[in-house]
Amino acid sequence: MLPASLSADLTRWRRDFHRHPELGFCEFRTAATVAATLAQHGWQVAAGAEVMRAEARMEVPPLAEINAARAEALRDGADPVWVARLGAGLTGVVGTFDTGRPGPTVAFRVDLDALPVRESTDATHVPARENFLSTRPGRMHACGHDGHTAIGLGLAVTLPALAKNWRGKIKLIFQPAEEGCRGAKSMVAAGVLADVDFYFATHLGISLTETGAVSCGTDHILATTKLDATFRGTAAHAGVDPHLGRNALLAAATATVQLHAIARHGAGASRVNVGLLEGGSGRNVIADRAVLKLEVRGETTPICQWMAVEAERVLRAAAAMHAVEVAIENMGEAGSAPCDDAARAIVRRAAEKSGATRITEFSPLGGSEDATLMMDAVQARGGSATYLLVGTPLPAGHHHPRFDIDEAALLRAVALHTAIVREILATP
Ligand SMILES: [Zn+2]
Repeated sequence: MLPASLSADLTRWRRDFHRHPELGFCEFRTAATVAATLAQHGWQVAAGAEVMRAEARMEVPPLAEINAARAEALRDGADPVWVARLGAGLTGVVGTFDTGRPGPTVAFRVDLDALPVRESTDATHVPARENFLSTRPGRMHACGHDGHTAIGLGLAVTLPALAKNWRGKIKLIFQPAEEGCRGAKSMVAAGVLADVDFYFATHLGISLTETGAVSCGTDHILATTKLDATFRGTAAHAGVDPHLGRNALLAAATATVQLHAIARHGAGASRVNVGLLEGGSGRNVIADRAVLKLEVRGETTPICQWMAVEAERVLRAAAAMHAVEVAIENMGEAGSAPCDDAARAIVRRAAEKSGATRITEFSPLGGSEDATLMMDAVQARGGSATYLLVGTPLPAGHHHPRFDIDEAALLRAVALHTAIVREILATP
């Protein structure tokens, strides 16, 4: 049985996170709150460099931005001891609860970050009407991760008491920077998934817009890699000394055309897109700098990886052709991990037992999600993983200024996840 006060707690936590949205790798207040709550309820807590490899993070904000976010979190009452543990943008936290009896390890992924979206103050928007709007101009929890974090805290508070008769271990993985697929890789690289047998990533809403509905898995996920390429050449006067210049813009333009000429893969769908190309400084100057932003996608992780290798080859060849330098930076990554039958069957049984009103096997995820990198890691070691959805009506779509969730879905999610753990760890 879940404690009677839990529903009110979930709403209170969600609204507190909603009022204090933090962007990827800057989730100091959120992560410190999570770590303190886990520690208070008997979880073994690992945080910061213990659960993230710094160099495997992607598109990390400038240090000044991270430092400003840390100062803001401390001003807003974040526990300085936990904040210190989170270093310069290592805002991941993992709670482990060991029953002390041998058995499997179950892990849940919870994402922490908000979006650079300006929240609507329209009177029809519930956070405006009930006075818990974002207090940070230009930042908003517009994807429901405030709800996810509240669900994570709900599990942190309730599972230890229930686990008295269970076996194995429970892991709550609080991941920074899901938006842009930038944070999961660093947690996989730090070995957070190395002992996980069953893995569940959860999202509110997406394509499931009815409170009480549960989708055991998702499909239509494309693996993706985002790359930035910076070409550097030599500037020269375009009239006097064009032969002394090395044209970075021309190299980037060559790369753009040839990237779109990468052969299609016979094993499944692939994508490539150069979405931004800029360079040069003026009409009469040979361009010494150009930047190109691209992404590749694939129906499977290997197809996406093949596309990324081909893209890198084209970028380097274009640079060599025009005798300029190119620096390639990985800005985001996600896999295509399929949702396993075994994990989906567990969600189905748990959904039935926890009072779900409608259960579907698959719903489309659309887009990309870096929880798939964690799923890949678990599946690679023979474990079972799925990406499940908990239904909520959505007054506006994800990432919209009027996005909101039905808070009644939070208690349902805690009940569902508790039932999932019980399915796996309850001793016969
Ligand atoms: Zn999201």
